[in-house]
Amino acid sequence: MADETADQYDLVILGAGSGGYAAALRAGELGLRTALVEKDKLGGTCLHRGCVPTKTMLHVGEIADTAHEGEAVGVKISVDSIDPQGIRSFKDKIVGRLYKGLQGLVKAAKGVDYIEGYGRLSGRNTVSVESESGTRTLTGKNIVLASGSFSKTLPGLELGGRIIDSEVALDLPEIPKNPIILGGGVIGVEFASVWKSLGAESVTIVEGLPHLVANEDESLSKALERAFKKRGIKFSLGTFFEKAEQTDSGVTVTLADGTTFEGDYLLVAVGRGPNTKDLGYEEQGIEIDRGFVIVDRSTLETSVPGIYAVGDIVPGLQLAHRGFQQGILVAEEIAGLRPAPIVESGIPRVTYAEPQIGSVGLTEKQAVEQFGADGIETYEYNLGGNGKSQILGTTGFVKLVREKDGPVVGIHMIGSRISEQIGEAQLIVNWEAFPEDVAALIHAHPTQNEALGEAHLALAGKPLHAHA
Ligand code: FAD
Repeated sequence: MADETADQYDLVILGAGSGGYAAALRAGELGLRTALVEKDKLGGTCLHRGCVPTKTMLHVGEIADTAHEGEAVGVKISVDSIDPQGIRSFKDKIVGRLYKGLQGLVKAAKGVDYIEGYGRLSGRNTVSVESESGTRTLTGKNIVLASGSFSKTLPGLELGGRIIDSEVALDLPEIPKNPIILGGGVIGVEFASVWKSLGAESVTIVEGLPHLVANEDESLSKALERAFKKRGIKFSLGTFFEKAEQTDSGVTVTLADGTTFEGDYLLVAVGRGPNTKDLGYEEQGIEIDRGFVIVDRSTLETSVPGIYAVGDIVPGLQLAHRGFQQGILVAEEIAGLRPAPIVESGIPRVTYAEPQIGSVGLTEKQAVEQFGADGIETYEYNLGGNGKSQILGTTGFVKLVREKDGPVVGIHMIGSRISEQIGEAQLIVNWEAFPEDVAALIHAHPTQNEALGEAHLALAGKPLHAHA
């Protein structure tokens, strides 16, 4: 029979992904007695099924691309074969190493108890945890919901067999030959890119919206579409998916206009839904909208005092670093430190396809909505003028959006390896720097980082290697 014990904590956290474990680590630093409840693996989606494994594979794809480009720069290299098992081992090694490190961190965190089991919000300040050793009821003066997200599909489109989600895609025993990808958002374009790099003969993305990465500044979407076309990655835009039928060897996808595509796999990458069902949230009176937990934007407190929510279950960008920051904020809020609210538009966004996209702040369209068409200025610096980008063989640009006579409010970049520039870009936007401030700072030559410097010089009215 279940063994019922009561445990008293300052903070009980339900879910140990990016949001949950960040809250636990910060709470431990602040001297709060904390329980971190997890039913699966510490680290959650990002570490085990998301950010880290996909970026590991994209790195392998970059190595394959580099080898293929060798001859053009005087180094003849031939790629004998791509070994899916070898790639998986590399991925598992990286994930395993980080997992071990994270387990060590949580174990060493003062006042943090890691509790394995299936958690449920059983009262306004209790979480019941079921595990093989029975049911335990944890009492928290405060509770943080951090139960994360799952791969969504469309009505009538069942996952299974050759119709797969990103988690299954990461562990396929083979590189698909002619996959179809449903959804041209971040996850969809990253898989398209990596499969093409690893030798897929044809890759087709099906997107109902008019553009790939449709949440980005339109200039980035268009540039990615041009680059993908050049790489032979096909895409259908603006027509909705109707159905998919599978056999033992393939999948046929039909669009609303009757167009069909044949592939060996269909990757469903239509977004991630909040994991909030049957966890007791609604029963305790927590306000939920289409599955997402509604919170106070400043404190991340739900409609029930003392219960907070972080990560992918909170409406907004579903990104690991947003979850980390929200976790830190909630722990500090509970400890009474009154942290500054997180500005959602200031969260950096990166798409790790080839070419990469990095952006932060407002798109041009959003800036026009906020300041009016006459209230903004934009500048696009072409990577054609950037020495390091030429050496790397990439095209692309850095686009700045500023409030007229005011600070830079958006930075949008595309090009190989350009994601590494997001660090400075996010400081510029979040510190509300003026182009004139950045123009006075020195950017090392020859780096891709110079492109940021050049763009700000130009927007400040004193271009160096660029036209005004
Ligand atoms: P999760 O990481 O999903 O963690 C939630 C945890 O709660 C899980 O471990 C789950 O087991 C646990 N849980 C749920 N219910 C219960 C319960 N009842 N009892 C106990 N435990 C429970 N983000 C980036 O920033 N960069 C990237 O490059 C990136 N790439 C991605 C690639 C892919 C393919 C995917 C799928 C996602 C990617 N993301 C990326 C998104 C990122 O993974 C998520 O934003 C992040 O993991 C969200 O953190 P979270 O804590 O909200 O949820």
